[in-house]
Amino acid sequence: VFNIPIYVEIIIDRLEEKGFDAYIVGGSVRDILIGRDPSDFDVTTDALPEEIEEIFKDFTTLEVGKKFGTVVVVQDEGIVEVTTFRADGEYIDGRRPEKVYFSKNILDDLSRRDFTINAMAYNKKIGVIDYFNGKEDLEKKTIRAVGNPHERMREDYLRIMRAIRFAAQLEFSIDDSTFESCKLYSEHIATISIERIREEFFKILLSKTPSYGIRLMKDIGVLDIILPEMIKAIGFDQHNPHHDKDVFEHILCVLDKTSPNLHLRLAALFHDIGKPYTLTIDEKGVGHFYGHDKLGAKMAKEILQRWKAPNELVEKVRLLIYKHMTQHANLKEKGLKKLLSIFGEDEIFTLLELQKADRSCSNEEADIKDLLEREGKIKDIIENKEVYEKNQLAINGYDVIELGYKQGKIIGEILDYLLEKVLEKPELNDKKKLIEIIKEKFKLN
Ligand code: ATP
Ligand code: MG
Repeated sequence: VFNIPIYVEIIIDRLEEKGFDAYIVGGSVRDILIGRDPSDFDVTTDALPEEIEEIFKDFTTLEVGKKFGTVVVVQDEGIVEVTTFRADGEYIDGRRPEKVYFSKNILDDLSRRDFTINAMAYNKKIGVIDYFNGKEDLEKKTIRAVGNPHERMREDYLRIMRAIRFAAQLEFSIDDSTFESCKLYSEHIATISIERIREEFFKILLSKTPSYGIRLMKDIGVLDIILPEMIKAIGFDQHNPHHDKDVFEHILCVLDKTSPNLHLRLAALFHDIGKPYTLTIDEKGVGHFYGHDKLGAKMAKEILQRWKAPNELVEKVRLLIYKHMTQHANLKEKGLKKLLSIFGEDEIFTLLELQKADRSCSNEEADIKDLLEREGKIKDIIENKEVYEKNQLAINGYDVIELGYKQGKIIGEILDYLLEKVLEKPELNDKKKLIEIIKEKFKLN
């Protein structure tokens, strides 16, 4: 049953009233057919961009891609991209068509689309238009290029990543000859802008079973190009009885066990990336990876910067990796509070989730009891509003200055000292008591 929201229906109706053809197309048709909620609705029509603008002149419209035939119609309920039927011209450099040709024929428009499941259109009047057996491929759970896969990949190498992305998101397989074309042209992915690759890669990471997408990337050959640092992890023996998987398999296991938050999934992807570069084997033949967390944090930062990821994201991922080995430290109350002050009240649980996943993937017998206990203690600290940060002290910098201490470095030192005391003895967090401590330790001259 095609349930199209009113705000999309209105657009199709109005185009039809003016004598044009109009359909929803692409991802929304695919998603409705498999019972997923479409992320957005695209409309395709034989009206030209100027005509679309004229027809919707009483709406807010944006000229985002008018040159390529797209007018965005804005309504409170949502935005709809309305695009003129297109037949792409020659693809010159494996990226953008040299020139776009507008068409009066929906077949042209569907023919230029990447995969059969993305090349269907629908409206109430006509029903589903499916020249390339997209419905059948949806049933077979297959990603198949429209037309000749070699030609289609050569036109736009991003489609290699898109094939993997849709396979991962929908849990489909890639049809053999489409797969072969992806493999044949995989090295050309290097010619595509990193922003577009990153967008697809992040969608793969956020899918239900990211290990499946990463394996496809490896088998097709794009992992070597996008993430060469990871290749050493494949089959890398940990020489350690606490680990029953090689580094790559371990990473994939951790990825699948984490919830789909981008920074958590990225931290899972990179948490052990430093291992193959830090192995030492002791006299008993046991492997150690001293400093792999520090190295991994540094490598993750470099990789994410290469991918032009936003700094805030890079920093979150870096910190999670840098601290992921604290799972093995015997942290007392004070140590937990220190960790809490570094991560804050949300991110601390992201770290714990990473650590739990990491532990459960390391070995069949691995036990996460200590981590669950730690989680409970941290929840208590937060719930009981126990002090773990300077700004929670019963005294602040201005109070200290009023006591007669000079503005400057000493104020910070005093507050650091007080925090240490309060972390050990929470009952000391009382203005009078803190002032006493200050006067005793820091003589005024
Ligand atoms: P999502 O739900 O993730 O948005 P989608 O199918 O809508 O998935 P988009 O990237 O938004 O994917 O693209 C919309 C449609 O445009 C696709 O369904 C496909 O028909 C077409 N398309 C997008 N990118 C390409 C491409 N590189 N080559 C050919 N067709 C493409
Ligand atoms: Mg879309």
